[in-house]
This record gives sequence, structure tokens and C-alpha cells, in this order.
Amino acid sequence: MTILEIQRQLAALGFDPGPIDGVIGPRTRAAIRAFQASRGLLVDGIVGPQTRAAFAAAAPAPVAPSAPSSSPAASIVPAAWMPRAAMRRVHLHWTAGAYNANGLDQNAYHLLIDGTPKLVRGKWPISANVNCPRGAYAAHTLNANTGAIGVSICCMGGPGVTMASHGKYPMKREQWEMAVQAVAELCRFYAIPVTDKAVLTHAEVQPNLGVRQNGKWDIATLSFDRSFDTARKVGDRLRREVAARL
Ligand SMILES: [Zn+2]
Repeated sequence: MTILEIQRQLAALGFDPGPIDGVIGPRTRAAIRAFQASRGLLVDGIVGPQTRAAFAAAAPAPVAPSAPSSSPAASIVPAAWMPRAAMRRVHLHWTAGAYNANGLDQNAYHLLIDGTPKLVRGKWPISANVNCPRGAYAAHTLNANTGAIGVSICCMGGPGVTMASHGKYPMKREQWEMAVQAVAELCRFYAIPVTDKAVLTHAEVQPNLGVRQNGKWDIATLSFDRSFDTARKVGDRLRREVAARL
């Protein structure tokens, strides 16, 4: 990105870089720092790979009149996957499997993000979880499936996977980004508010909703950014990034 592009992008996202003149001064640096803070990035005022990726993932960038039409804000969840239904929450999981979505995974979640990354539809429609005391639905969260959409990132499987050692299938940044976008689209369509009781990771279900889970720790760590090392930090980042896309 050129400095001009960075300044235009900052301005388009509501940050104030000062005059858009292609020169990095204190105001542009302050705006970069503010943008980094808003995205949960290291706040250093330097546009490195992570900050560039965050810009790319942010709202449509008016970088050039001839910019390609494949806007990162384009919707990714097909309309047919979102039947009308009264849904109240979105739970984000990982599968604790490999990078592919197997049959078991598809049975348990409504939406999966495989290692490509690509969106994979689960077996049950979202509407199957409107009310599920018994019967056929996506059973993604113990005793908390009613009204809850289950989205899962295919990763973190294999023996001996711990907070310290993420094994053969660590979560890829691209998978996380796709999950954030999908969750944002679900929130928009189902009018789900981005609060810590409505948009949360599985690891937050017990602390935030008071529904006991058996030591579930998805998602208490991000493989591509180990500074996010608690369920709360990851959940807050999820909500911040989802809200930024609404
Ligand atoms: Zn889970």
C-alpha cells in the first residue's frame, strides 16, 4: 500500500489521518495507531503485514477508481443457507479436527470454515435449532443449542494439542477472517446484537451464559496471534471485528 492509499483507507473507515497528501506525519501515525487498536493489533503505527491484512479485510477501500470489483465486503454466506428463523445467538467453535469438514463436523455445526479456507454447509439448517429440546438439530453446544447458530473453524485437531502446542492443524488467520465475516452476515440477517451473551465463542458459554460445558476451550487461543490467549480476549476480538463489519 502506498501512503496515499493508507490515508484514503483510514479516512474511509472514519479515522482522521490529516491531509491526504502522501506524507506520513503525526496525524497519520495516530490514525494508524487508532485503527490498529480498533482491530486488536499491535499498536505501533507501522503498516506491516498484519495491519495491511486488516485494511484489506475492512470496509470497501476506495484506493483507486479502477479497483477490482471483488470487494472484501461482498457477502459469503449464500441466502439459501439462511432460512428465516428466530435465532438469538451465534457460537463460534473450532472442530478439534483436521482442516477438512468431515461428516461428524457437518452434523454438529450449521456452518464450517475449512482449511482452504472455504465455507462448508452443515447437515442441519439453521432453522432446526429454533427449538431443540429433542430431535434433529445441530448439537454444537451442550444444553445451549436452542436459538443458537453453530459456526466452526476446522482446525486444532490431533493428539496433544494444548494452549502451548497447536499441533498439525493450527488455526489460519484466513480461516478466522472468514469466520468473522460469516458471523457478521448471520448477525445482520438474524438481527442478533453483538454482545457477549449473543455473539460468543464456545469457551465463553459457561462464563457468559452460565450453562456448564465440560472444559471446552474453543476458542481460547489464536494460533496466528498468540497474544490472544484467553477466551475473553478472543471473544472480545471476535465481537470488535464483527461489529466493524456491520
Ligand atoms: Zn465447541
